[in-house]
Order: sequence, then structure tokens, then C-alpha cells
Amino acid sequence: MNNDFCQKFIFEDANVRGELVRLNNSYQEVISKASYPPPVKKLLGELMCASVLLSATLKFDGSLTIHARSNGAIPLVVAECRSHQLVRATAHMNEKSLQSPELINNHDLQALLQDGKLAVHIQPKNGQQYQGIIPLEHNSLSACLEDYFSRSEQLPTKLIFSSEGDYTSGLLIQSLPTPADKEPVKQQSRWDHLTQLIQNAHPSEVLALPIERLLTRTFPSETLRIFDKKEISFDCTCTRERTLSALSAMDRSELKSLLEKKSVIVVDCQFCSTRYKFANTDISHLVSQPAHSSPKRTH
Ligand SMILES: [Zn+2]
Repeated sequence: MNNDFCQKFIFEDANVRGELVRLNNSYQEVISKASYPPPVKKLLGELMCASVLLSATLKFDGSLTIHARSNGAIPLVVAECRSHQLVRATAHMNEKSLQSPELINNHDLQALLQDGKLAVHIQPKNGQQYQGIIPLEHNSLSACLEDYFSRSEQLPTKLIFSSEGDYTSGLLIQSLPTPADKEPVKQQSRWDHLTQLIQNAHPSEVLALPIERLLTRTFPSETLRIFDKKEISFDCTCTRERTLSALSAMDRSELKSLLEKKSVIVVDCQFCSTRYKFANTDISHLVSQPAHSSPKRTH
């Protein structure tokens, strides 16, 4: 049974939208790929939920990726949500740093992503891509995203993430632009009231309570309209061709030394662990070709 879904709702008499996401099967698929320690597991869950919540407003086919790179204990962590609610995620770890007394069981985002950069990348199937930098100025992903929405998008947002075991969940409310016929002051006071109320949502309720009960308990006396659930699944886009293309983008001296050492080049997809094997003789011609990423305008 697939327990993974997202579900939108709106407040009938406030210009505010909301969404709940819950992931179990897809989260399990991601965290079972490596022995991630608790802080990495939690961050992967939060990023997966965030990628679903952020992609909910996109009106086109494509993908939304949130990724962080750092010089710290987690050099790379990435979560992607594609159209039709297909998700995948992965993290690279510096296991020694994660075992250090300062970081063991430390969930502080800035400590885990030291000197890091957090960004959202939107790639429509057709059309121009967009990249936004999410300032890493807070110690939780929810606070960083709230800041990003209010500063870059002018959309005040509140987020609660919750993870336990194989379950991860996110609850979002977002104030929409004030329509021309509405008073901004009134909208602000409604928003302030709802942000007070969402603080009362207990993480265990966000994780497991049926949505109707969760919303009634969190926002009593608010009239809400809840839309149908949308199913979410784990899915990876890797193919043999894409893996070959990644190999052809490798630094030529690195590729050459790899080919000198091995008769079969094995590449495991970091998202789904699918193993791709290339015979040395199948790819040796790449060495004499320019790397994919090198500028083609020299031709
Ligand atoms: Zn894959």
C-alpha cells in the first residue's frame, strides 16, 4: 500500500493556502540506501517534503530540486520532485565528521552544512530554468525556507517538519498576495492569527493524525476546504545513456587513469543504486574526445 501523499487545503475566509505531505514508502526507499545517521535521515526527510510542498504551485511539467553543498559533514544533499509527484533524494556524508562529539545527534542545519549553500532549482520540461539561493542563516530548514519565501517571493510562509522512523511529514501554510479589493491590514491580522495557531500543531500529529482531525485541532473555528489527496512515489530518472553522459563529462586525466586501472567501469546510481557496467573498450574512445562540460565553441 502506498502511504505517500500530498493534500492541499485553503482557508475559506482568509487568503491563505495550505498543504500537508506525508512520505513513508518513498522515504524508506531513500534512507535504506545507506546507513545514514539520524541528523542526515531527518534532513533527507525534510528536503523531500520541502521539494513536494514547493513544487505544488508549479503549473508545468518539469522538476524542482532543493540541494545543499557544503564543506562540512554533509558535502551534498539533494531532493527532487518531478511532475506527477515523483520523488528521489540522496546525501553524501563525511562519516568521520558526523561521528564527532559536536555533531553526533546534532540537528543544527548550519553545523551540518558548514560554509554551505542551499538552493532551489526549477527545470521546466520546456522553457527557462530558474535557480534561487536560499540563505543558510538559520539552524533549521523550516526557518531558512520561511525566510526565503518572505524575502525572495514576498509570500509569508510557515512550515512544520516532522520525522520519525520511516515516516516524514511537512505542513505548510502560505499567505497569498492580497487581492486588490481586500484590505492588507485585515489580511495581515488573519495571517498573524493563523501563524500563532500552527505553532500548536504537535510534530507527532503532523506525522500521523488524519488530515481532517489535524486541521480541526490546529485551526479550530476556521472554515477549511480540503482537496483530494495526490499520491507520491519514489522514481529515478537514471538510464545507461545518462550515466555514460556523466562519464563523458569527467576530467580527462581522471578518466584516463580510471581506464588504465579497470577493465570494467562500474557506476552505481546514487539515488536508486542501479548498477551500470561499461567495458573499458566501450568507453576508451572518450579519452580522446573533449569532456562534455568543456566549451563547444572552440570547434
Ligand atoms: Zn537511479
